[in-house]
Amino acid sequence: MASLPPFHKVLIANRGEIALRVLRACRELGIATVVVYSEADRDSKPVRLADEAVCIGPPPAAKSYLNIPAIIAAAEVTDADAIHPGYGFLAENQEFAERVTACGFTFIGPRAETIALMGDKIAAKRAMHQSGVPCVPGSDGPLPEDTDAIIALARSVGYPVIIKAAGGGGGRGIRVVHHESALLSAVATTREEARAAFGDPTLYLEKYLQNPRHIEIQILADQHGNTVWLGERDCSLQRRHQKVIEEAPAPGVPRAAIEQLGATVVEACRRIGYIGAGTLEFLYEDGNFYFIEMNTRIQVEHPVTELITGIDLVQAQIRIAAGEPLWFTQSDILLKGHAIECRINAEDPWRFTPSPGRIDQWHPPGGPGVRVDSHAFAGYRVPPYYDSLIGKIIVHAPEREAALARMNRALEELVVTGITTNVPLHRDLLLDPRVRRGELSIHFLERWLDERRR
Ligand code: ADP
Repeated sequence: MASLPPFHKVLIANRGEIALRVLRACRELGIATVVVYSEADRDSKPVRLADEAVCIGPPPAAKSYLNIPAIIAAAEVTDADAIHPGYGFLAENQEFAERVTACGFTFIGPRAETIALMGDKIAAKRAMHQSGVPCVPGSDGPLPEDTDAIIALARSVGYPVIIKAAGGGGGRGIRVVHHESALLSAVATTREEARAAFGDPTLYLEKYLQNPRHIEIQILADQHGNTVWLGERDCSLQRRHQKVIEEAPAPGVPRAAIEQLGATVVEACRRIGYIGAGTLEFLYEDGNFYFIEMNTRIQVEHPVTELITGIDLVQAQIRIAAGEPLWFTQSDILLKGHAIECRINAEDPWRFTPSPGRIDQWHPPGGPGVRVDSHAFAGYRVPPYYDSLIGKIIVHAPEREAALARMNRALEELVVTGITTNVPLHRDLLLDPRVRRGELSIHFLERWLDERRR
């Protein structure tokens, strides 16, 4: 059945692989595309493939991809109906969502109030706690100014504790405290950091879990009260709070526990009136889940969920934003097989220094069960101004062991010359017996790197 496209024209306010991913979703839905770009991305693949492209400023993101008036003007000039923010940049910026809507465009994402609620991590935790979602024990609100009260609070939670900025993100504004003697100075330093980085000195405190896994739940909610969850992702392999490899389902976690968490999460999202795609992030330790934060956007690792559910999450975001009711129910969502994603970065695999520059050769892998989401090509110049992600390799197979074998094979096939990439890290990491057995934790990768250095 040929149906009308949800929108006539969508403006993509992003760059790199995610701009291309959104563009592909729009094409398949019959929607025209506008890509905005900085001068550094003039020759990029999304710019070449878009129906229209508008330069919005010089390379620094503050002057281009974060330049709200320039993006709105581009939408006006090109007569777009809706704006997709991708991830990063303005994707979780309440003001941007408000301005987009106030100027008469549809923001492809949750309501601005929801973005604001989840952007305040104390309010987010409170809202989730009130809806029965398990949270890390902690201060249940902002940390007081009074030093005696802070000491008493940390004692009651029990050491080690973690101090976090309410407005924080991207792993910044976080400090672990192991002993009372270090508490007050850690609070003072983090407060100053939070004030400088996020313009908000508000802090909170949590119990520091010693060796948890990172497990997150993907949800989708339409504007008509229908909410579903689409399984979980394990993103425990991280360096400096940055995810490196993600997979779905989470190996070795009892299905019954995940099912129960999924149902609780759906109920909580219904209660807060969540609309769009979203992810609730949890730490998992000793059989218990603890909510840490919610991301109100599409995530880098969304393809692993797409491969095990067969649902196109970006198309779903667009159709939901246009007002379409969800076209499937919870019982239609069947998780099939196992998917793994490796983030390919232009960086030194062991020292992590960025490696921008011209890609001379680019031969992506192919064959059964391999998906490559990348804006790279031979001759492409990786600009030095943005994050180093040049693409993602995602594999799907009937079970985990076959998916690991498939990923090894895909990484072997990949040829990138001219720049340095982190492919050697992925290859070595996936051969480690502990990774193969699924013995993961958020500290595994950093400890593994330390072991290698010795
Ligand atoms: P951000 O928004 O900056 O990513 P998060 O609250 O998601 O901040 O925390 C970032 C990371 O810090 C988590 O992925 C986890 O690795 C670690 N972390 C956060 N809270 C805790 C905790 N209570 N115990 C142990 N580790 C934690």
